[in-house]
Amino acid sequence: MSDLTRLTAAETAEAVASGKTSAVEVAEAHLARIDAVDEKVHAFLHVDREGALTAARAVDDKRAKGETLGPLAGVPLALKDVFTTRGIPTTVGSKILEGWIPPYDATLTRRLKEAGVVILGKTNMDEFAMGSSTENSAYGPTGNPWDLTRIPGGSGGGSSAALASYQAPLAIGTDTGGSIRQPAAVTGTVGVKPTYGAVSRYGLVAFSSSLDQGGPCARTVLDAALLHEVIAGHDALDSTSIDAPVPAVVEAAKLGNVKGMRIGVVKEFSGEGYQPGVEQRFREAVELLRELGAEVVEISCPSFTYALPAYYLIAPSEASSNLARFDAMRYGLRVGDDATHSAEEVTALTRAAGFGPEVKRRIMLGTYALSSGYYDAYYGQAQKVRTLITQDFARAFDQVDVLVSPTTPTTAFPIGERADDPMAMYLADLCTIPSNLAGNAAMSLPCGLAPEDGLPVGLQIIAPTMADDRLYRVGSAVEAAFTARWGHPLLEEAPSL
Ligand code: GLN
Repeated sequence: MSDLTRLTAAETAEAVASGKTSAVEVAEAHLARIDAVDEKVHAFLHVDREGALTAARAVDDKRAKGETLGPLAGVPLALKDVFTTRGIPTTVGSKILEGWIPPYDATLTRRLKEAGVVILGKTNMDEFAMGSSTENSAYGPTGNPWDLTRIPGGSGGGSSAALASYQAPLAIGTDTGGSIRQPAAVTGTVGVKPTYGAVSRYGLVAFSSSLDQGGPCARTVLDAALLHEVIAGHDALDSTSIDAPVPAVVEAAKLGNVKGMRIGVVKEFSGEGYQPGVEQRFREAVELLRELGAEVVEISCPSFTYALPAYYLIAPSEASSNLARFDAMRYGLRVGDDATHSAEEVTALTRAAGFGPEVKRRIMLGTYALSSGYYDAYYGQAQKVRTLITQDFARAFDQVDVLVSPTTPTTAFPIGERADDPMAMYLADLCTIPSNLAGNAAMSLPCGLAPEDGLPVGLQIIAPTMADDRLYRVGSAVEAAFTARWGHPLLEEAPSL
């Protein structure tokens, strides 16, 4: 077959199942692609060549025996280095976990393996998933395949870059404040934050437990849906896992129809700070939805204005508590000399050396916000804002089926531009954070290129809790219409490497 790295996940699975190609050939093609381009892109922190080929061989053996294969059997995937993988390093982009080899698989990892998905390796990310550019990785930045001098988004920039550079047709991300959707937007790929609790967090190294959510990343909406169905579902090992059937997302992606749907444009997500080309492409996408038969109305969600400050109190508060476990006694790095240093000194020296500046900033912020005397003024207030945001969503979804907005206010910015300005960096997640605070589902998908810089723009679709199928129904209708009119940004106009 011609270039196996250019196929979608659905096409790859079909080619393997029908015997047009073997899973080993598919894995080898992707490993060769990694060899050819990843020195430049730096999407991977660890490539598991042996593991990938062994998993691929197992799929081929199963097929040879006439056993039925799952819908993604033999399809390669890039896994964000925040999920534990038995016997394979898991660093979370941090020096503090350098050298740590987890003794167990995350539930998500286990499900991927059971489905015959071929895990190629672990992808780069902002340290502990804190960031919007992957520049906070302790292992160096990742380049955006559209322009290697620009950021691929964050924190899951390794995963989005792997997709956009054809190193993998599928990837996994985690979205605490936007880290699946924002990287998808700036690389012209598809990323979904499922409803909170839909995908198990067991074995996901915690940043902010009430917000963290794993989800699918792909180059097409259908591929994301296929992956969604593999990873979602109840898990007794995660106390916040939802015990209900997974919405029929693959069926919805195949349906792809918005006729008669009511779609709300979030009024608050426009104006100052939004790049003109992003707003232009967004307006065109809304026009397209109208042409496809949706009824479009404007919706105001006034509390969304406070989402960013509330998030930057809640997420660091939870992080300050979650990251207390990195004490030099349990995992990874250990600095200091037991003969001359006390246990407290070893902990302090290890944390000083092992955590980067953004992680330290968050731990300090969170510790302060939770301290007695300040708790009510900061953490308590932020939790009230969280309730107001949830109420805004509830009111909106009384009137419309889904909401839409740009995913990010700007296209990919140059590496280094916001590195020393945390506030500017935080603004990248302006439109994504409300859904994390409320726990509902949201997707980003490509909506063309900004005229001023030729870089991808993301359209965000937001659905109510446990109505993840609506994302796929609307998303695949938009994708089909876009592709028919302008061509798919990635499938037909490959970024040069
Ligand atoms: N950029 C946001 C942050 O730094 C979101 C990160 C994420 O979703 N993991 O907290």
